[in-house]
Order: sequence, then C-alpha cells, then structure tokens
Amino acid sequence: MTALRDILIARIAQSGPISVADYMADCLLHPEHGYYTTRDPLGAAGDFITAPEISQMFGELLGLCLAQCWLDQGAPAPFALAELGPGRGTLMADLLRATRAVPGFHAGLRLHLVERSPVLRKAQQARLAGWDIAFHDNAAALPADLPLVLVANEFFDALPVRQFQRDADGWRERLVGAAGGALRFGLGPRGPQPALAHRLEDTRDGDLVELCPGAQAIAGEIGAQIAARGGAALIVDYGDWRSQGDTLQALRGHAPQDPLAQPGAADLTAHVDFEALAHAAAPAVHSRLTPQGVFLERIGITQRARALAAGLAGDALEQHIAAHRRLTHAGEMGSLFKILSLHPTGAAPPPGLNT
Ligand code: SAH
Repeated sequence: MTALRDILIARIAQSGPISVADYMADCLLHPEHGYYTTRDPLGAAGDFITAPEISQMFGELLGLCLAQCWLDQGAPAPFALAELGPGRGTLMADLLRATRAVPGFHAGLRLHLVERSPVLRKAQQARLAGWDIAFHDNAAALPADLPLVLVANEFFDALPVRQFQRDADGWRERLVGAAGGALRFGLGPRGPQPALAHRLEDTRDGDLVELCPGAQAIAGEIGAQIAARGGAALIVDYGDWRSQGDTLQALRGHAPQDPLAQPGAADLTAHVDFEALAHAAAPAVHSRLTPQGVFLERIGITQRARALAAGLAGDALEQHIAAHRRLTHAGEMGSLFKILSLHPTGAAPPPGLNT
C-alpha cells in the first residue's frame, strides 16, 4: 500500500475515473507523495541511471555541440543557458567544465534550470556551487528576451501522457478507475479527438496511441523563442518519430513493474513522440531524428574516450570502456535513445545533426 494509492482511490470513488495523464502527474509530482517530490531516484542505488550519470563524456560532448552552435550564430550575449529536468546537475556541471575555454561562453551565459523537485533542486545547487542559478517550475518562465541555448535529457519522457484506443472512427480514452480496493485500467466513452485526426490513417480498431499535451506546449514555447531570438535546443530521450502502442512503464530498483502497483513509489515514463515535438516547435527548424550512438560518434566520443582512457588503469579503465559502449552501442542506449535539435531558420544545425 502507498499513501498515494489511498488518496487516488478515495478521489476516484468521489468523482470517477481519471485520465492516465492525471494519474501520472500525481504519481510523479504530488506535493507530498510524488515520486520526484520525495526523492533522488538516480544512480545505482536508485531506480534508474541516465546517460550523464554513466559518463562525463555525455555532458561534455553535448556542451561543446551547443557551444559550437552558439559560436556559429555569432556568439550572442547575454544568452540563457537552460536545462529542463537537470536531475543531479551532472550534465550541466560537465557541460560547464567542457566549455570553459570557449571564448565568451561563460561570460555571456545566464543559467536557468527548470525543475519541480525540491530534493533535486538541492542536489543541483550543490553540484553547481558558485554559479548563479535561476530556478523555474515551468519552461514558460524562461526569460523571453534572450537567445535560448537549451538541453533536456530524459525530461520529456516524464511528462504525463493521455492514452486513446481506436474505436471505429473515434477514440476511447484509457482511464484509471478503482475496483475492490485496487486501481484498474478502463476505457471512457467513444468520442472524436481532433488532435488525433492524423492518426486515423495509420491505426486500426483496437490500436492505442498516446498524446502528451504538456510536451507539445513546452516544445511550442522553446521553438518560438529560438526562432525569434536565436539559440538551439538538444532534446535527448527514448521514443520514436511517432508514438504507437502503450509505452507507459514503471521502474523501481532498475526493474519494471505494473504502473498501477505502487503509485508515487516507482518512476513512471512514456516514450516521446518526437514528431509531435518537432511540429509543435515550428517555426524553429528541427533536425532529422538521430540515434544517440550515431550522434555521439559523429561529434567525437571515440576521440574523447581515448583521451580519458590514457589516464586510467584497472577497474576504472574497464568501467570507462563499458560506459562508452553503454552510451553508443545499438544493443544498449545507442539506438533506443534519440536526439532532436531545434535551431532558427538560416542557422546551421548543431554539429552531428542534419535537417
Ligand atoms: N536530466 C537528468 C534527470 C532525468 S529524470 C539526467 O539525465 O540525469 C527527470 C528530471 O525531470 C528530474 O530532474 C525531475 O525532477 C524533472 N521533472 C520531471 N517532471 C517535471 C516537470 N513537469 N517539470 C519540471 N521538472 C520535471
């Protein structure tokens, strides 16, 4: 039993089943019992591990890629350097260290972190000690008058998705209800869904598709700002060009579990629908969706890995080689994870990516 399950069951008894998105939002960010509100979930002792926690090379290379993009656009200053969902602050710390020697980059940047979790904000503050950080609850609060250089790793997969099952020419929303003291999935009434009109072409009766309204809103905001003020975004996550099927998954202690089993105690994510992000970000230009392994190889991870290996021996060297493989190999994170970038019309796409 979790406290959040009792709260949800009582609410459902009073006002009826809730959408998968509302369920996900409470599980992750409930002010008292939410998964991110109450803990640091990252690392070997936590529930999952992310690319920046696997190797410093990830944040370094993404940082140099963004800095090159900023140089290519004439090094506009001041500019907002922003991260969505910075976790422990590791990616940003590696990015900042790697870009120290880029002329004007540190002097021109204003650091903005979008983070809802009080626990992780503390970790970020400690990791980035010495930097002046502006924290925000929402991407909408990023400064609107500056060029925007932004990175987001495994952020969009944490945003609540609605799920719909195809039924003839309409859709039934998948809902979370309760029966016999347990949470259960069910289906709402059939109705039209204008936002899914384009999915009537590539689905059949019974197929399930996902919609992430929060992700589209954020992509719209950052895309509009990059198009108007300049800058670039690197969005890294698991998912594909178009969502298909039920991708809601719960992880606890590095093992998958039933998403309804322990609300608030397990991480909940859904695959990212990059097509929806790219379209919402117009008029910013998006790059072709590129596998993480391909992208990291193109921007020099092997050279960086060799340079770091020269100073290592024994277990540390073994771990370093395993980390390189884990980030890039197709059987590991190399092809499940993808990169989408955004940049203004007329500017070059970030190194390693093409339109
Ligand atoms: N980028 C980090 C952490 C990924 S975990 C890494 O790669 O290690 C997801 C991060 O997004 C966490 O920092 C979490 O607290 C934050 N987050 C999740 N939902 C959010 C939301 N709706 N608004 C702001 N931050 C959110």
